[in-house]
Amino acid sequence: MAENYDVIIIGSGPGGYIAAIRAAQLGLKTAIVEREHLAGICSNWGCIPTKALLRSAEVMHYAEHAKNYGLKIEGTVKADLKAVVDRSRGIAQRMNAGVGFLMKKNKVDVVWGEAKLTKSNEIVVAKSSKKPMEPQAPLPKNTKGEGTYTAKHIIIATGARPRALPGIEPDGKLIWTYFEAMVPPEMPKSLLVMGSGAIGIEFASFYRTMGVDVTVVEVLPAVMPVEDAEISAFAKKQFEKQGMKILLEAKVAKVEKGANSITAHVELKDGKVEKITADRMISAVGVQGNIENLGLEALGVKTERGCIVIDSYGKTNVAGLYAIGDVAGPPMLAHKAEHEAVVCVEKLAGLPNVHPMDKLKIPGCTYCNPQVASVGLTEAKAKAEGKDIRVGRFPFVANGKAIALGEDQGLVKTIFDKKTGQLLGAHMVGAEVTELIQGFVVAMNLETTEEELMHTIFPHPTLSETMKESVLDAYGRALNA
Ligand SMILES: Cc1cc2nc3c(=O)[nH]c(=O)nc-3n(C[C@H](O)[C@H](O)[C@H](O)COP(=O)(O)OP(=O)(O)OC[C@H]3O[C@@H](n4cnc5c(N)ncnc54)[C@H](O)[C@@H]3O)c2cc1C
Repeated sequence: MAENYDVIIIGSGPGGYIAAIRAAQLGLKTAIVEREHLAGICSNWGCIPTKALLRSAEVMHYAEHAKNYGLKIEGTVKADLKAVVDRSRGIAQRMNAGVGFLMKKNKVDVVWGEAKLTKSNEIVVAKSSKKPMEPQAPLPKNTKGEGTYTAKHIIIATGARPRALPGIEPDGKLIWTYFEAMVPPEMPKSLLVMGSGAIGIEFASFYRTMGVDVTVVEVLPAVMPVEDAEISAFAKKQFEKQGMKILLEAKVAKVEKGANSITAHVELKDGKVEKITADRMISAVGVQGNIENLGLEALGVKTERGCIVIDSYGKTNVAGLYAIGDVAGPPMLAHKAEHEAVVCVEKLAGLPNVHPMDKLKIPGCTYCNPQVASVGLTEAKAKAEGKDIRVGRFPFVANGKAIALGEDQGLVKTIFDKKTGQLLGAHMVGAEVTELIQGFVVAMNLETTEEELMHTIFPHPTLSETMKESVLDAYGRALNA
């Protein structure tokens, strides 16, 4: 007989495992199904292992520039690539062990295998079509296996995978996805990165800092095209100073493969075609939801552009079925998946006053060098919405802490509603802005106005003072510039 639960979650990424913990906290009998790696893409092949690689690159950068800090390092600083990759993989393993521990601690049953919906309240778990990731921490002792399971509520949290362009499909050898880019067996001398979204630009930054000759090809007119135009232009200049070649409004039309290199035919904005030869290429043209082989069509679950359609509480059009995280559409970010998970579970558990998901208040962070972070409306979007705005700007070059850190290249931009003073958006580029942005996220969530921000005391000396100065600047009151 099928084992019955209150909630079953398919997929154990940041969406799935957070949903499982919240459901268990609310006293619901909960199971989570996973086919490949506990903790999902984020911990195993996404957010965390990339930050580990970027940290190695950052330390390398500081070591190479030690003399800027009055220090002498004898000899040349060299990367031991295997050790850099091993460190990143070790951290991924630690993360998936952590999720195993959390499942056990919260008495969530782990079911190992590939889930398919047979009814809106029933799944069949079969042997996984995927090879379990290595290294993988041991699974919790009580892990269950193949069989039929039923639940009052089923949450689909199956995540996403790399998108491929027809004719330029990754082959894992010469054309990489993020999977191969994260575990390079040897450092390429040259690299072409197709796509300058967060994933593409983080890898471009990592490889460039490690000494690789990097070219980025972006079809849109800006790097990191979702960011405020001024911030992406600022970041582009910094990347170019570091020696990155960036081609905007350019398109990889065709790729010829050699024995150990590729030649990309890149259509430039003036119509000319430039042939670029590189040892390796990373295809970073976005991700697509894992909606296949889940039984969605048979149940009539509505999908759109490769993702499951949900309301702002994670409900699909089929009663008892929910979707969260990457499979439920953009922005495809771990913290969006986690928040959606909590909102979805609290709503299905019948908690009162559950706040619907507000996508405008989801911050975005890119961990390139310099970092980029933002929340809310860009200047262009605010104008397109017909808002009357005030814009403040403050450069890192006028901030004492940034100068002391040797990180004086950055910019903070804030956007306010002229009439009400409400903070509509904040956009930052520079050192540690991925940590700083949370100040503005809290402010936006509390619907803060310029007045309250101006009355807030920011500690000195910190990079965060640039945030206050940007607010002051929007009202013609900047003190240090
Ligand atoms: C290189 C890279 C860097 C990133 N960096 C960041 C970052 O810095 N910050 C950020 O916020 N986001 C980042 N992301 C995005 C982030 O990883 C995702 O948004 C996040 O993992 C989505 O979580 P999820 O729970 O929706 O799905 P996932 O993490 O993708 O997890 C889905 C899980 O479902 C499992 N699954 C799928 N189908 C089935 C099935 N039928 N049966 C059983 N199990 C199944 C999969 O094996 C997987 O473990 C990055 C992504 C990549 C690729």
